[in-house]
Amino acid sequence: MKRDIRDLLNPALHNIGVYKVEGGQEAEIKLNQNESPFDLPLWLKKTVLDEFCKEPWNRYPDILPFRGMDAYADFLGVPRDSVIMSNGSNEMLYTIFLACLGPGKKILIPEPSFSLYEKIALLLQAEVVSVPMLSGLDFDPDAIIRKAAQEQVDFIVLSTPNNPTGKSLAYGDLCRIVRECDAIVLVDEAYIEFSREPSIIGLVGELDNLIVLRTMSKALALAGMRIGFAIANPVLLGEIAKPKIPFSSSRLAEITLQHVLKHYYLVTDAVAYILGERERLYGALDGIRGIEVMASDTNFLIIRVGDAREVFQSLSSSGILVRNVSGYPLMENCLRFNVGLRLENDRLLEKLGNL
Ligand code: PMP
Repeated sequence: MKRDIRDLLNPALHNIGVYKVEGGQEAEIKLNQNESPFDLPLWLKKTVLDEFCKEPWNRYPDILPFRGMDAYADFLGVPRDSVIMSNGSNEMLYTIFLACLGPGKKILIPEPSFSLYEKIALLLQAEVVSVPMLSGLDFDPDAIIRKAAQEQVDFIVLSTPNNPTGKSLAYGDLCRIVRECDAIVLVDEAYIEFSREPSIIGLVGELDNLIVLRTMSKALALAGMRIGFAIANPVLLGEIAKPKIPFSSSRLAEITLQHVLKHYYLVTDAVAYILGERERLYGALDGIRGIEVMASDTNFLIIRVGDAREVFQSLSSSGILVRNVSGYPLMENCLRFNVGLRLENDRLLEKLGNL
């Protein structure tokens, strides 16, 4: 008799589920994945494609995408050997977690935070130490430092600004955590371009336990291209490179990145538009009775409503797709939506105002 196939698998699979996006990925007004509402202009796409056509498609790209890495290192003004590129920052999260975690290792994660952190940690059979946000969803830096020492954690992951709360750690508190904790600290800066707080990237040369994660999926509007980066000191980065999937970034991703960085004014203009709309949305939502809106440092906003399920359905039936984040700790009846185009934001406001 053969064993049940489930008994042949990694036992950690019992503790995790399949990544899902409620409501799917199609909608007339799609505000559920924190994407940019601005696609690349057609003239730039054509420039990228012209260059891509000259590449040998039958040949592997470099083991690591050095062209993309050099371009991003130069853009950031950091040494080239302190940058590594991946096929989206989700892939880099897997790589970094593989390098840092395993059975017997402890990871500290503030709660609520990006769900993938816990999922990968459980998959790797690491022990998760959660530190709850304060009741207003702000980080609790003192509790993070205290818990890290008490539990002797090996690894800390901080999404700042944080998905799904939209809040940042104050720069001073973030530095304090990296300096004081005896752990590798991964700072996920997926939304940094929208933040009031500065990036910690300038301290990578000085703090040898710091890794900064960046994605090109949000402000740079390249979610479809799958580009992420880790920035850290070369010694630590050399270790992180060990479990990395070889050849995982396509030639197309590298070329696209080079061109977008050359035309960075497109990103700066889009960020300025999104920040303007974020504040307009915040002001308007603040005036709607029955809705509590939270201040955000990202390209999305969190609102608390009477019944999140009902509001989600009602928006959905009008073609507006948002994310129901009520399942996260401290986020009962909360909805999350990214800032869209002005007209899309108007439609959302109108609908929420008439509920
Ligand atoms: N980190 C955070 C905090 C995110 O919100 C996301 C996307 N939702 C990612 C990482 C992953 O982004 P990507 O894989 O598109 O680079």
